[in-house]
Amino acid sequence: MANLQFLGAIGEVTGSAYLIRTDRSTLLLECGLHQGRGADQANEAPFEFSVAEIDAVVLSHAHLDHSGLLPKLVKEGYRGPIYMTRATHDLIEIMLHDAAFIQMKDTEWENKHRRRADKAPLEPLYTDKDVETTLQLRQTLDYQQRTPITPDIQLQYHDAGHILGSAIVELTLEDTDPPRRLVFSGDLGSTHHPLLQDPEFLQQADTVLLESTYGDRNHRSYSDTVEEFHQALQAANHAGGNVLIPAFAVGRTQEILFWLGKFYRQGRLPQQQIFLDSPMAISASELYFRYLHLFNDDDAQTFVETVKHRWEEWLPGLRCTRTVEESMQINPIQGGAIIIAGSGMCTGGRISHHLKNNLWKNNTHLIIVGFQAAGTPGRALVDGTERLKLFGHEVQVKAHIHTLGGFSAHADQQQLLEWASHFKPRPKLYLVHGEQDKREILQEQFRQQYDWNARLPAYKEKIEL
Ligand SMILES: [Zn+2]
Repeated sequence: MANLQFLGAIGEVTGSAYLIRTDRSTLLLECGLHQGRGADQANEAPFEFSVAEIDAVVLSHAHLDHSGLLPKLVKEGYRGPIYMTRATHDLIEIMLHDAAFIQMKDTEWENKHRRRADKAPLEPLYTDKDVETTLQLRQTLDYQQRTPITPDIQLQYHDAGHILGSAIVELTLEDTDPPRRLVFSGDLGSTHHPLLQDPEFLQQADTVLLESTYGDRNHRSYSDTVEEFHQALQAANHAGGNVLIPAFAVGRTQEILFWLGKFYRQGRLPQQQIFLDSPMAISASELYFRYLHLFNDDDAQTFVETVKHRWEEWLPGLRCTRTVEESMQINPIQGGAIIIAGSGMCTGGRISHHLKNNLWKNNTHLIIVGFQAAGTPGRALVDGTERLKLFGHEVQVKAHIHTLGGFSAHADQQQLLEWASHFKPRPKLYLVHGEQDKREILQEQFRQQYDWNARLPAYKEKIEL
């Protein structure tokens, strides 16, 4: 009998990994990096399976919390296929190289201290070489293209509307007659995002794994969020300070650029200097032009008609600062600028420098546009911390903080419930990829609204498929 073991993103949102075993094959669904509290230890821990037994890897989308341990898998000897959509194929190249760069830099820093303390040097989790080998193993599938990937498993992707190239994963297990269907929601997008399609509804499955990132709440409407964003920019302009937007390189960054350009075109963008201060986000943003056909037709039509090669065609005040020197030239600017930089949860990257320079000023406006995981500096800021430790020193938080949940790349509670309700008859339902309290609240909603018993699997739990 086939089974599935939950090996990550259980009671949390990072480190996604699910192992599926049939009589004739073993498949790893996602191989995500752990982020936030206790992440280093979790990333370094040995895999819960033997790498040699894996026949194929399937990826839902490019975000590192779903893909960031692939080079470690490859470092440990994996040489089989890694399935993904075409846009994920392109994005993952940028993201994994960046991840390796950070791993190598962090280890180098750590080893400098270890040498002084006469301790043996550490090895990075993986290097650029491991990333290169990983990228050789990529196999691409279009949405809806059903393909056998092992002797008894077929794979089909559906658009998840979460980031460019993101997919809902449908696996058909043919080890029995009739076959059974397993659907993994991946990260499910919210609706009405201009640069993405809405998530596709599926009707048939025997087992469904559903993400629950925002299982506890509903977002403000998208149009209200766009207005709230505009008001925050106006408030920052009145105050005379800078606007900081920590953003993931893929998804939120491009959506923010889209709206800034739209405001500009409507003659209501108060700021004239916009910095995209992230080499990874700059590369990812350029990549969007290859996939204009994937955008949501109605909302993004003017964009697609106006822009051909560069975001500056859409947003003339934009400056992409790729080098460290260009980035440092932003530091003396006291007000009137919008600075978009990673990392999205303020766990590192160039945003940390801008936080250090601006967070202590009461005319700074910090706009949070994405999910902030527990234990990250971004979450501390959302929760109203008065001080934040940056580069070993405490900085007082005087900036205004706006949290715009409506820009989230994730479906909210009602959208999750609705997406699941399209399955007829009701499959077995497991809630994954959500903090414990959030998936408990979502479980209760399934009970109340549909009299449906959604299960909360435990870490390492195995279920029969
Ligand atoms: Zn994601």
